[in-house]
Amino acid sequence: MGKITIAIDGFSSTGKSTIAKQLAKLLGYVYVDTGAMYRAVTLYAMQKGYIGNENEEEKIDELIADLSNITLKFVYNDTLGFSEMYLNGENVEKEIRALPVSKLVSRVATLEEVRKKLVAMQQEMGKDKGLVMDGRDIGTVVFPDAEFKVFMTASPETRAFRRYKELLDKGEKVTYDEVLKNVRYRDYTDSNREFSPLKKADSAIEFDNSDMGLKEQLERIYNFALRKIEETKA
Ligand code: C5P
Repeated sequence: MGKITIAIDGFSSTGKSTIAKQLAKLLGYVYVDTGAMYRAVTLYAMQKGYIGNENEEEKIDELIADLSNITLKFVYNDTLGFSEMYLNGENVEKEIRALPVSKLVSRVATLEEVRKKLVAMQQEMGKDKGLVMDGRDIGTVVFPDAEFKVFMTASPETRAFRRYKELLDKGEKVTYDEVLKNVRYRDYTDSNREFSPLKKADSAIEFDNSDMGLKEQLERIYNFALRKIEETKA
């Protein structure tokens, strides 16, 4: 009763997932990270040699024909306090966050068949409302009727620096320039693809968090969400 759907979209490394996760916790809602789903399909494509092979042509048709063999599942990890992505029964949380997957994921996310499969799964997960979902097309395509939509932005340099620090903390050997290049590349590819490009939904509130701390963002978004929930009840 009185549960709503919350769509959080925006550019990469805007802190969408951090906000979405905490917001879901505060509201007692389910959190779904759709980027993890595109990342897992990308990892599968890499493992099978459909993409990412230097000197070899991409085998996109083979990937598409193989999509029905991909099973994705979010499994809640009690110790960590969030869900982890399982690809065909295997925990792939670490691999999907690493730079090799980040470099190829936007390419895979341009494929109409991949999007159709993942959007259908996402709509099924959200059919009973009471969820916070983050991604690129949640407010525009997955849940165009979501009661509350947020669009998050920040400068490419700010986002690249955040991501760079995160990857270093995880022990990855990356340079800031490499991460900035990836952020810019994904911005461009995500915003200019043919199917469901990243764009702000008309009814979304925009949050530029270049100079805003996490606590302030969460407080503001949480208060907005409570208002929307009240409005829905009325
Ligand atoms: O959110 P995250 O950065 O993990 O997403 C990885 C990539 O997956 C994005 O750069 C985008 O190409 C793709 N994606 C998408 N639609 C979504 C979520 C992610 O196209 N709903």
